[in-house]
Amino acid sequence: MHIGCPKEIKPQEFRVGLTPSAAQEAISRGHKVTVETGAGTGAGFTDEDYASLGAEIAESAEALFAAADMIVKVKEPQAPERKMLREGQLLFTYLHLAPDPEQTKDLIASGCTAIAYETVTDRNGGLPLLAPMSEVAGRLAPQSGAWALQKANGGSGVLLGGVPGVRPANIAVIGGGVVGTAAARVAAGMGANVTVLDRSVPRLSYLDDVFMGRLTTQYSDQAAVEELLPRMDMVIGAVLIPGAAAPKLISRDQLSQMKPGSVLVDVAIDQGGCFETSRATTHQDPIYEVDGIIHYCVANMPGAVARTSTIALSNATMPFMLALADKGWKQACKDDAHLLNGLNVHAGKLTYAAVGEALGLDY
Ligand code: NAD
Repeated sequence: MHIGCPKEIKPQEFRVGLTPSAAQEAISRGHKVTVETGAGTGAGFTDEDYASLGAEIAESAEALFAAADMIVKVKEPQAPERKMLREGQLLFTYLHLAPDPEQTKDLIASGCTAIAYETVTDRNGGLPLLAPMSEVAGRLAPQSGAWALQKANGGSGVLLGGVPGVRPANIAVIGGGVVGTAAARVAAGMGANVTVLDRSVPRLSYLDDVFMGRLTTQYSDQAAVEELLPRMDMVIGAVLIPGAAAPKLISRDQLSQMKPGSVLVDVAIDQGGCFETSRATTHQDPIYEVDGIIHYCVANMPGAVARTSTIALSNATMPFMLALADKGWKQACKDDAHLLNGLNVHAGKLTYAAVGEALGLDY
């Protein structure tokens, strides 16, 4: 199969769909790989890195889209990219169609077969192609929050780990899933006192077992949040209710219960945010202040560490990408029901129920 990897054109997107080593794996199985010139630059990979392993370099996205049987990307195709998709072509990338009627209609009209990373499942009911980015965002959250706590950024001037004789920071992580667990691990590793809140008792038991006393777990209800707020230097929001907007867990009124210069890191901002005062920010301008509390609400946190994120994403997508290339999408999806769950659009039809329901389209 001829696999094409274009340069991402969405603003501020520095990741790339294939690492040189993923390209090499495909080439070693007899596939042809074409990478658009400069596609890997943002993640620290040069054209030469790909070419030296046997990939071809395309001078333009047009040439690449015209030749490839499968397009492997990171972000949903932007309008100019959607115009280049054609009938029978396979697209493997993040799509997030439910809130995006224009993209959905364009993909249906193109006649392509589109498999979305975010709806591929695993046998534990997880989302294996979303998890690596949650890992990245979770690990970044205490790091970004620690920076926001610094005086120059408006924070209270508390060091996460403290020093001998001075207490460390208190951090609450609301939501103990993939993001929350990764955030708790890094926060505890930096020496903070960590409390994780979740609504799932089995999840709290798991965290209690795994962290062996290095953090406190607490059932997440309104009373628990209120009791914690006056003591916390940082609260990390990491909740997810699948398919729904994030619940608002801290109201504007409650900010007055926090110490001035404390920090809210709202990782769930891509689902609308879990604090009433959250609004999405960018890496260029990541923080703002409301009632003396510093908010960090970057919607694409993994973009800050594009190289790590690219490699983590490519590691997760590679087995699926290779199955699609080796067997063709039909056989690969027949053999793997979890990959089939990724199928969102095929031959002019929407094939994913939740997107159809969200957009009022036939499926
Ligand atoms: P997950 O499903 O692994 O974990 C979510 C956890 O939230 C679950 O354990 C669930 O029990 C818990 N939860 C639900 N309601 C709760 C409540 N009221 N109180 C406490 N806990 C509650 O999800 P995840 O992969 O960890 O993702 C968390 C959020 O981070 C999602 O909104 C996701 O979209 C977002 N995210 C953002 C970025 C970014 O760049 N900003 C990157 C990756 C993920």
